Amino acid sequence: MMYWNKTFECMDREHLHELQSQRLVDTVKRVYFNVPYYRDKMQSVGLEPGDIKGVEDIAKLPFTIKQDLRDTYPYGMFAVPLSEVIRIHASSGTTGKPTVVGYTRKDIDTWAELVARVLTGVGAGRNSVVQVAYGYGLFTGGLGLHYGTERMGATVIPISGGNTRRQVMFMQDLGTTVLACTPSYALYIAETMEELGIKKEDLKLQAGIFGAEPWSDNMRKELEQRLGIKAIDIYGLSEVMGPGVACECLEQDGLHVFEDHFIPEVIDPDTGEVLPPGSIGELVITTITKEGLPVVRYRTRDITSLNFEPCACGRTHVRMSKVLGRTDDMLIIRGVNVFPSQIEHVLMNIGGTQPQYQLVVDRVNNLDELEVWVEIDDKLFSDEVRRLEDLENRITREIQNTLGINVTVKLVEPKTIARGDGKAKRVIDKRNI
Ligand SMILES: [Zn+2]
Repeated sequence: MMYWNKTFECMDREHLHELQSQRLVDTVKRVYFNVPYYRDKMQSVGLEPGDIKGVEDIAKLPFTIKQDLRDTYPYGMFAVPLSEVIRIHASSGTTGKPTVVGYTRKDIDTWAELVARVLTGVGAGRNSVVQVAYGYGLFTGGLGLHYGTERMGATVIPISGGNTRRQVMFMQDLGTTVLACTPSYALYIAETMEELGIKKEDLKLQAGIFGAEPWSDNMRKELEQRLGIKAIDIYGLSEVMGPGVACECLEQDGLHVFEDHFIPEVIDPDTGEVLPPGSIGELVITTITKEGLPVVRYRTRDITSLNFEPCACGRTHVRMSKVLGRTDDMLIIRGVNVFPSQIEHVLMNIGGTQPQYQLVVDRVNNLDELEVWVEIDDKLFSDEVRRLEDLENRITREIQNTLGINVTVKLVEPKTIARGDGKAKRVIDKRNI
């Protein structure tokens, strides 16, 4: 079993708890004295830094939400002067200004360390060739993976996203062993390989580090089979750091949250109440070593659960489940909570379809209607109409059974649904709510 930093990755939980408490106390002081936003917010609930003595006091602290970062745009939440900040990233919002995040030299260092842990954890080493097909730029994916790869001493190919044929050519010619990108782009790369007649055996790929969008275990199977790899889920968000906040080990049974740097909680998204271990709810993260932009009880809007059972890999850090969806992805259709991942799950189980789908929600005569567009396999499309109808009916039935609402399923030709380098657009909501 390989670790990058065994001391911290396998620290016994008692010591980890002490370390977290110390670091939390420091963080609370840092934000209280350096960020007026936090000072005001703490004072408004009658809290002083001295009231937080350890992890057990964390729930006393108010939450931070994305809107707080927008309201203090661009630098209002930074806890250091700009002279200490050596890098900026930003996430694009659908409306208004982006969210700007900043890193000190130590923050960039920590980030590289955590990504080095991720890569070592999937079996990569100094001889590995890591193709980083996440976008480089303001998005944290590209540079995050890049610095971690350099830190651990492997060879990085900073190809960024796009130009998929060139991606495949490099994978083959340069002997790429690890591919890092979004899972939907990995699937697109697999499709392109098949089009070009390149087999997985022609490549040296061993692992894929996929993140930045939720994906199912069935999608994992698909990617592992088509690319001949171990597909590993990595988690992160720019407000907290970027990719590398948590990652699966080779056990592929939950993502270890790097608890020497982050404290995760799961709350009820409606009431804000902290839920017991194992419950499904919204992930909340407090950074405990960040200097540039520390966040206290940041509401990620990601739905997951925490598993404190020991892991066979020997790491002691808690595992979060694969992200099941987002509180804001959650569609409410005729009063029923619907996550796109539920539909993905059904499609993967049935087979005969491509794992590309889109949900179109509309309101007709005051009633919500859900249409599911599904791409089918090439070979099926040229098949007799009868078989297509059977498949359509079966998918309709299974989705209705899963969701408990009526849906209309529409089978479409391969490559009808737009895709590409970025995140797959799974939902089109035409309702004016
Ligand atoms: Zn593990």
